[in-house]
Amino acid sequence: MMRLVFLGPPGVGKGTQAEFVAKELKIPHYSTGDIFRKILKDSSSLSKELAKFVNTGELVPDDIVFETLKETLFTSKANNNGWVLDGYPRNKAQAEMLDNLLANNNEKIDYAIYLSADREILAQRLSSRRVCSECGTIYNLAMNPPKREGICDKCRGKLIQRKDDKIETVLKRIFIFEKEFSPLKEYYESRGILLVINGEGTTKEVFNQIKKGLNLG
Ligand code: AMP
Repeated sequence: MMRLVFLGPPGVGKGTQAEFVAKELKIPHYSTGDIFRKILKDSSSLSKELAKFVNTGELVPDDIVFETLKETLFTSKANNNGWVLDGYPRNKAQAEMLDNLLANNNEKIDYAIYLSADREILAQRLSSRRVCSECGTIYNLAMNPPKREGICDKCRGKLIQRKDDKIETVLKRIFIFEKEFSPLKEYYESRGILLVINGEGTTKEVFNQIKKGLNLG
């Protein structure tokens, strides 16, 4: 049983590592960003509301995020053995909301894994990031390219660049992260569950560090 949240700036590899850890532990992986991007594909009023924030790199208001999260974490039996969350929480208020929600069920987070990296590395990674428009698998044109250009190895979906991975939006997202992060970090640090990992290595190196930190060998 393990409940984990991933923290860190955009482009640091939260999505990739969260997927690896979830596979290793055989528990579900949820990304609020992925959930929102899926909702954006239809033409509901929620989708129009979300697009204003997601496409421009602003944070979605806490109450909307929270409703989405509640639905995700408490509607499936698959969650009984824990889960890995990436992209949530983004600020201290969200961390408190999640803790209250879990406490009502006598549950708690085991670790908050903070992946860190230098700004320049983040900007570089984000500009060469491509994602599958069908299954969401993440690629990097330099470090982890697909076998066939523009095509997902897993489902043959078309690879695209996220609207918010354009350089102007990237810098704004890094700025928003930096503004919100220190209270969030202190929140988990004071509970003694913050695991700090250097996210600048290769995906494999970073994954090994995380496994060590979680005592997974
Ligand atoms: P991500 O894929 O985690 O980079 O998220 C993409 C976008 O989705 C963010 O820039 C926000 O607009 C929105 N988003 C995802 N998670 C959250 C969250 N926990 N709180 C607010 N907005 C979020």
